[in-house]
Amino acid sequence: MDIQSEIQKIAARLLKNKEVAMVIGYGAGSAPNRTAPVFIDKEKDVGKLVFNRFCVNNLSLYLPRLKEKGKIAIVAKPCDVRTIVCLIQEKQIERDKVHIISFACPGLLEKDGKTLFASCAECAVTLPPVYDTLSGEAKEMERNEPFTDRVADFFSKMPAERWEMFKAEMEKCIRCYACRNACPMCYCEECFVERSLPRWIGEGSEVTDTMIFHIVRAIHTAGRCGECGACARACPMDVNLAPLAKQIREDMLNLFHHQAGVDPNAPAALETFKPDDYNDFIK
Ligand code: SF4
Ligand code: SF4
Ligand code: SF4
Repeated sequence: MDIQSEIQKIAARLLKNKEVAMVIGYGAGSAPNRTAPVFIDKEKDVGKLVFNRFCVNNLSLYLPRLKEKGKIAIVAKPCDVRTIVCLIQEKQIERDKVHIISFACPGLLEKDGKTLFASCAECAVTLPPVYDTLSGEAKEMERNEPFTDRVADFFSKMPAERWEMFKAEMEKCIRCYACRNACPMCYCEECFVERSLPRWIGEGSEVTDTMIFHIVRAIHTAGRCGECGACARACPMDVNLAPLAKQIREDMLNLFHHQAGVDPNAPAALETFKPDDYNDFIK
């Protein structure tokens, strides 16, 4: 049975047995090679659930907002599962209130139907770290699609050139905040960019304000980013956010041996400390 049929079958069973109040999944999009989130609460509607390589949204975004509904099932790619693990670690949702339907991930394609998204080309976690039902086979997926690395080029440059590249990317940003709004880990009720007391950044188009937004958002996602790439895909200006995110991820790995959302039993990285930490700042 293909993954889509299995997802529909699992959703029908969960709704029929009243094991969950709702299934969040992907439905057909309004254009070819697109999908849109769907919220199914009746068994008769499970045929609306689709699965293909254009399931670009990270639907875990909706879990904290819908938790009043009761237990919810969610169709989640392995990277989305990593953010679900982070949301549980941060006590935004409860593990026993979510049923995770996942699968070994073949990777997402851009709208051309051929090119693998950069985040997928780099993905090292193609099996979900935790799940309740798994559709398809539990095997690591091989990557043989063309590799588009917008990060390697950045890190091959000297610091002054990197700064110019970063500034050039920031000048493309129109500060629509679609990247933030697509991210399940950006769940603050009031984002620092919208605070007026104190005001952290100006509302105009100064590139320094844009830089502050992106640098602070990157720091806020340290140890919490599931590498789903939903932020980059949401951007209407094709701003290359990958180098900043990658540097933060590597720092978390090298300094704290932490990879976000891969260990459901680990505490959230920035919510813990060791009294005997080797770094000076803790003494
Ligand atoms: S980042 Fe990995 S898990 Fe996520 S969609 Fe891409 S290949 Fe799948
Ligand atoms: S920062 Fe981007 S890649 Fe990381 S969890 Fe948020 S949307 Fe996904
Ligand atoms: S989605 Fe793109 S243009 Fe909008 S704020 Fe984010 S980086 Fe800037």
